[in-house]
Amino acid sequence: MGFVKGLKCRECGREYAVEPIYVCEFCFGPLEVVYDYDGIKGALSRDMIKSRPQNLWRYRELLPIDGEPTCGLHSGYTPLVRAYKLGQHLGMKELYIKDDTVTHPTLSFKDRVVAIALSKAREFGFDTVACASTGNLAHSVSAHGAAGGFKRFIFIPASLERSKIVASLAYEPNLIAVDGNYDDVNRLCSEVANKYNWAFVNINIRPFYAEGSKTQGYEIVEQLGWRAPDAVVVPCASGSLLTKIWKSFKELKEIGLIDELHSKVYSAQATGCSPIVAALKSGVDVIKPVKPDTIAKSLAIGNPADGYYATQVIKESGGDGEDVSDAEIIDAIKLLARTEGIFAETAGGVTLASAMKLIESGKLDKDASTVLSITGNGLKTKEAIVGHTVEPYHIDPNLKSFEETLKQINALKGS
Ligand SMILES: *Cc1c(COP(=O)(O)O)cnc(C)c1O
Repeated sequence: MGFVKGLKCRECGREYAVEPIYVCEFCFGPLEVVYDYDGIKGALSRDMIKSRPQNLWRYRELLPIDGEPTCGLHSGYTPLVRAYKLGQHLGMKELYIKDDTVTHPTLSFKDRVVAIALSKAREFGFDTVACASTGNLAHSVSAHGAAGGFKRFIFIPASLERSKIVASLAYEPNLIAVDGNYDDVNRLCSEVANKYNWAFVNINIRPFYAEGSKTQGYEIVEQLGWRAPDAVVVPCASGSLLTKIWKSFKELKEIGLIDELHSKVYSAQATGCSPIVAALKSGVDVIKPVKPDTIAKSLAIGNPADGYYATQVIKESGGDGEDVSDAEIIDAIKLLARTEGIFAETAGGVTLASAMKLIESGKLDKDASTVLSITGNGLKTKEAIVGHTVEPYHIDPNLKSFEETLKQINALKGS
């Protein structure tokens, strides 16, 4: 039932059969999955998608597995929230939050990529799954790997947030904490992947894994009533999610599920790790690797694998990018919480704070229907806002004590 034609090098166009490989043997370009879009066009309709269960497998013709999905069956189809209050605050006419902080089993968008990666790993016959992670991937592979009965080797930078380490350990994977940053971990994992016959979801399975990110784009379009937004703001680590949202919009146009595509794609990064936005701002096509230093650890990739392709998508679509400080990230997390009741992790703060800068500078049009991609739950990075929130009121357990405090509250708030 699959519509995958094979793999193709993004640089030289050389074609490969479907295998657990990720770079071109001739030019070392990254490999990408190609589909038979004519076949999909004849096989998939809006009504068919609508009739299916509300998870990411409703778009299965556009995903690179051959048989029935076996992992991540409850991932995806997160809410698209019309953000009236936040929109009003920012002066935006039509603002939405793609809320990947909820619904997913491990509360981040990584459940999208892992659903596809592990289903594909099973088709390839692997019994062990592995990853190099900035945190959310560790959590997701630990969980879905447990449910799928895989052996799991999870590599993380030792400096990760405690909440994310504990969340991963709950599923009892082999968690390897490396003394180094993500880029060190990733380099080590490439060596391990060469030696052991494991499915490294973001190395040898990467072409398939990355396709899972497209489902965020399909959902946005479907939830907008089969319309691509005018603008979408996307947080970037490796840059993969951003490129795949663009790919998803193009595919929906190609197979006739949307008529028009004029979406501008914007990148959001933390100033302490902004190689993609820095390349945009300096107008050069080469991504200069950086040493990450930011509270947005889930985005802390100093040498982004898809960075160059992300800049190309941004230019092709007419978008742009911004970067924001740690203080701006924290303020944005709190703004999103108090206007929309959505508690996002640091990456969500990066997206909103960057969007605010893009709006202020006029790079993002206030009249544009705009979707902010909010990719992970705030409970995963609680430590980032400790000391930056309001404090609880402490009282004795009696009505008198409560009413004294209530008086103070009312006096303070001037009501
Ligand atoms: C991994 C991640 C991203 C983006 O990752 P890419 O490597 O750019 O695809 C965004 N937000 C969160 C919370 C993540 O964990």
